[in-house]
Amino acid sequence: MDMAVEAGVIKQHLIDPEICIRCNTCEATCPVNAITHDDNNYVVRADICNGCMACISPCPTGSIDNWRTMPVVRAYSIEEQFTWESLPAELSPEELEAAGVAADTGDEAGAAPTPVPTQAQAAAEPVEPVFNSAQYGATVPPWSAAHAYTNLFPPKSPTTATVVGNFNCTEAGFDSETHHIVLDFGVVPFPVLEGQSIGIIPPGVDAIGKRHHARQYSVASPRNGERPGYNNVSLTVKRVTEDHQGDPVRGVCSNYVCDLKVGDTVQVVGPFGASFLMPNHPKSHIVMICTGTGSAPMRAMTEWRRRLRKSGKFEGGKLMLFFGARTQQELPYFGPLQSLPKDFIDINLAFSRTPGQPKRYVQDLMRERAADLAALLKDGASHFYVCGLKSMEEGVVLALRDVAKEAGLDWDTVGAALKREGRLHLETY
Ligand SMILES: Cc1cc2nc3c(=O)[nH]c(=O)nc-3n(C[C@H](O)[C@H](O)[C@H](O)COP(=O)(O)OP(=O)(O)OC[C@H]3O[C@@H](n4cnc5c(N)ncnc54)[C@H](O)[C@@H]3O)c2cc1C
Ligand code: SF4
Ligand code: SF4
Repeated sequence: MDMAVEAGVIKQHLIDPEICIRCNTCEATCPVNAITHDDNNYVVRADICNGCMACISPCPTGSIDNWRTMPVVRAYSIEEQFTWESLPAELSPEELEAAGVAADTGDEAGAAPTPVPTQAQAAAEPVEPVFNSAQYGATVPPWSAAHAYTNLFPPKSPTTATVVGNFNCTEAGFDSETHHIVLDFGVVPFPVLEGQSIGIIPPGVDAIGKRHHARQYSVASPRNGERPGYNNVSLTVKRVTEDHQGDPVRGVCSNYVCDLKVGDTVQVVGPFGASFLMPNHPKSHIVMICTGTGSAPMRAMTEWRRRLRKSGKFEGGKLMLFFGARTQQELPYFGPLQSLPKDFIDINLAFSRTPGQPKRYVQDLMRERAADLAALLKDGASHFYVCGLKSMEEGVVLALRDVAKEAGLDWDTVGAALKREGRLHLETY
């Protein structure tokens, strides 16, 4: 029997490697772990993807919305996709026919892509549902967020910005170094909102001679600029000197950015992100939970609220910050944070490597402040933002769940509302 006819046809879900900025959003969003990556590409496993579309709207570039009609037996493997520099063309009707598939079958089957069955799936037994923090992350912005412009400068047509500031915003003399960079766009319109990010393309080529892909950085300045009224944005960039395993490595883009001099120009793409945006309605509360450079969007939101408060135009809700770092010396903007008025923002700092002191993480602090967090969880005007190390995400969302449960709230209801109403945002990398 002809296997191609028997197994049929799928609409295979593919990521365009030329446009993808390797931001990891899709991998973090996919509820069934169908997306994976290597150092080169982000790819979708045909045997797992069920076409649920959860990854489509959060992708900042649209590169994930690509589908190809394929005979199941010829579905592109992930190993093959890892080597791609561009997407393969659609198979022609003749090629499909030669594979035993009627040319128009694909579109009919394509509306709801079918996963390729695997032996593992056939043999799979029901398993205990595990807690998956990503399922609570919103893909919609708060209802009162301003309109965000995205992809004004896509990866294929970047714009140029000039460096107008660059200084170390962690304590000098320590291994871990994070820079505050200010980029000016001159006369080129580059509107950004707090919570969005931009991409920077480092010059040169990678190990296989391909132009480096853009790295994403959260905007650390408010919507009217680092310097109010100027067409500029700031970033908070950590110099990567070791990989996630702790082995020495020289991160391509972070080192390029940290070494930039005033007057240098950089290639910028974006802006990206249309959901990690702050609420604008009066009395809306913002709970910010971050580690390291995850503080960038929190700085942007805090500064915008501070400017609004100063202008007397905003009847503010609460601002609560949980900020984690290994040591005080590694915490970006430690000094400026101390000068914010206590009645403006409730700051909670957790250090995990202070000599002679027990390790404390942001989720420990959240549990200590359970009473205040529970009150905020009960209030539909509260918005929660989590940004920073990937490893923090699960613990933080679990802490929120436990706080809710201990306060007698039904987490399934609360968690679903936070997601649906764009009130819990997760951005970890
Ligand atoms: C939505 C989003 C927002 C981001 N915002 C910021 C931000 O505001 N500030 C910021 O500094 N970064 C931010 N990043 C991370 C940033 O995009 C880069 O990944 C980071 O700067 C490393 O790039 P690189 O070119 O220096 O390292 P690469 O050359 O890409 O990587 C070198 C090696 O280091 C590992 N590695 C990469 N990043 C890290 C890391 N952070 N810690 C340890 N090992 C690492 C890699 O796996 C690789 O093995 C963000 C990422 C995303 C997805
Ligand atoms: S369509 Fe759904 S299952 Fe497929 S990769 Fe996207 S999120 Fe995962
Ligand atoms: S740009 Fe889109 S496809 Fe690429 S990693 Fe980000 S979310 Fe995934």
